[in-house]
Amino acid sequence: MNTMLKVLFFALFLVPACGGMYKEEPVQPSQPPAKTENCRTYPRPSKDSITVRVWIDSRNYLSESRVLSALNSYWNEVGFHVVKASSPKQANFGLLYMSTSCNVPVDIGRLNYNEWADLDSIMINYACFDKIPGYLEKLPSALSNALGRLMGIEGYQSFCSNGIMTHNIMKMMVDSPPVKLSDGDKREFYKRTHYYKSTEYETICKPEVVWEKGSYVPNEYKKHTFWASPSLSQLPVAEYLNKYFGLFGRSFVQVLDKDMADFALYDWGEEYKGCSPTAIAYKEDREVFFKYGECIGAGDNLKDATVVVHEVAHLFGMKHVPEWCGNSIMNAQVNPGSSFTATDVQAWMHREATPLDTQVMQVEKNKLQLTFVPLNLVRR
Ligand SMILES: [Zn+2]
Repeated sequence: MNTMLKVLFFALFLVPACGGMYKEEPVQPSQPPAKTENCRTYPRPSKDSITVRVWIDSRNYLSESRVLSALNSYWNEVGFHVVKASSPKQANFGLLYMSTSCNVPVDIGRLNYNEWADLDSIMINYACFDKIPGYLEKLPSALSNALGRLMGIEGYQSFCSNGIMTHNIMKMMVDSPPVKLSDGDKREFYKRTHYYKSTEYETICKPEVVWEKGSYVPNEYKKHTFWASPSLSQLPVAEYLNKYFGLFGRSFVQVLDKDMADFALYDWGEEYKGCSPTAIAYKEDREVFFKYGECIGAGDNLKDATVVVHEVAHLFGMKHVPEWCGNSIMNAQVNPGSSFTATDVQAWMHREATPLDTQVMQVEKNKLQLTFVPLNLVRR
């Protein structure tokens, strides 16, 4: 079962905008509003209520009513309802039981197997019912997080909002999960990419970005080596990284031998057109790919620096920060800025261990929380 599970997770991430979604074609509005300065327009799901269907594993380790009630325990508040499907074909997603390591009490993915093939699914790990304290009490919040992810919600860190979509809810690592949706959950729900009937345009206008400067005492100082593809030679990568990551006590030198490097940067080439995404980071492989020449390296140095730093920050385990949570280099949309912000410092403190940066200590989190002071509060 383990190998099959791996296939399942791998497939889901390879096909992020996959099928098996709401079966009726969503209606797109005809024309986006005209562009104005400092404003961006996004298509968003309409606020209509919606019902989706779940195909439930017949092995019934839990009663169907318990599972349905858990799936409806949070998102109902915003008009999102889950009912039982009478066949896999009719279903928008599946719910199945598996037994794996209890590091994964609930997960999402796609099993390439029998009736579960081509069906995005939530997996309940029945081996953990008596191994994780409070498993059944935490199940509604964990399943609702999993469902949110099937909706295309990426989630956020706990410092942004105490909601159902914080990253560790599905892992059941929160002792007292929230009892209802937070404002952050609702904002993310209306940005979801799957399961909606129609879209409307939302225009977000931001005043000129003001970047706070921070005083921050790093827990440790470390030097990292990187290798960059020769076609990126016009990009002053080391300069950018040293300028931004100096705040966190990190410095960088470029090496000519890839085998000597802690991480590597590549030119993505001509695989596809367009700048969405502009770049991508593979944490496990310690590699970043850039759409060079078209999307970065086209003369906008501030944007280039932001993109390079944002991607390398992913290698260090920093995650995206929703724009409603704070002005941040780690916003998912490119948000050009000349330094990390106070919000990014939070994201740094809450980063996850990765192959590049394996030691993220609790002690560091605690210590840094005390030592970060925005400069406007410091007498100089
Ligand atoms: Zn990113």
